Amino acid sequence: MIKKLQLIVILVIAVASCKPGADVAVTEKKPEVKNIIFLIGDGMGVSHIYAGMTANKGHLALEKCKHIGFIQTYSSNNYITDSAAGGTAFSCGKKTKNGMIGMGPDSTSLKTILEIAEENGLSTGLIATSSITHATPASFIAHEVSRNNYEGIAADFLDTDIDLFIGGGRDHFADREDGRDLLKELENNGYTVLNSMEEIEDFAGGKLAGFTANVHNPRYSEGRGNMLPLAVETAVRLLGTNEQGFFLMVEGSMIDWGGHDNDTDYIVEEMLDFDRAIAAALNFAEKDGETLVVITADHETGGMAIHGGDFQSGKVKGAFTSEGHTGVMVPVFAYGPGAESFIGIYENTDIFTRFVELFGFDLH
Ligand code: MG
Ligand code: ZN
Repeated sequence: MIKKLQLIVILVIAVASCKPGADVAVTEKKPEVKNIIFLIGDGMGVSHIYAGMTANKGHLALEKCKHIGFIQTYSSNNYITDSAAGGTAFSCGKKTKNGMIGMGPDSTSLKTILEIAEENGLSTGLIATSSITHATPASFIAHEVSRNNYEGIAADFLDTDIDLFIGGGRDHFADREDGRDLLKELENNGYTVLNSMEEIEDFAGGKLAGFTANVHNPRYSEGRGNMLPLAVETAVRLLGTNEQGFFLMVEGSMIDWGGHDNDTDYIVEEMLDFDRAIAAALNFAEKDGETLVVITADHETGGMAIHGGDFQSGKVKGAFTSEGHTGVMVPVFAYGPGAESFIGIYENTDIFTRFVELFGFDLH
């Protein structure tokens, strides 16, 4: 009886002491975010990251991120997502069917975070090592029922005011079945069209369409070189001049391709290239102080495990359970103001929701 009374007293005290404090905590305002750099390692699971870390003698730039979470990546019609539905979950905050770009499962177009940022006066940019019309970057700017509609995706770029894009995919703008010359149309809309990383790096300012390949860039070791980190440095230099802020998406597209090939060396080289792009983003964010950097993957590829490794020599032994994507959760790393919003286990669509909240956009 005495024990029961004691318990009740403790409970009453607990409830009384907790109430006012809890209210204050809930209404506390989140820090404002001016810029967001969102980096997607396509197909990048924990093993891909750790393979890169091992090969790099135990360290990666992304370790600077102290706020880490996991996302569930399934799509609206499949336990295992593809990059189109995965990209659309990030860009529009809605689970859709595999293959669909910037649309809900009922084929209605959804506004992307890039389009919303534009409407709110921010500058916007997209960067990819693949064609810029490939599923991941396309999800942020296009609205198509099929990711394979590359010419439709390229034409959708003309319906936006995107400030800058850098990647492959020139052919989808220049060499089209409908005969449209989208390069000319881009120029008419005020873009400078450039066709090499050297020219892109030296670009002084204005709207930029930067093509580094006719379709996809080559893989890192076969001639792409430092295109990705250089593109990030160029983009933050150009977009960072907007006092209203910017949204930039950067994709390390080919970590996924190494996963499909079950090729550990390919994965490691693309992972380390992506990590150099992350370093460029983090350097900017550290100096700027108002930039949130979020790094994640759309899904895991290859069902990769690590069966051996050595930090001294950087040797790593990967093993694979699949030549496709898998359903496992993938990690999220965040740095800068608002980074604490990205801890925990949540849905891929919540990335969009948190970006909208942190930018303070009103979706009515
Ligand atoms: Mg991709
Ligand atoms: Zn893939």
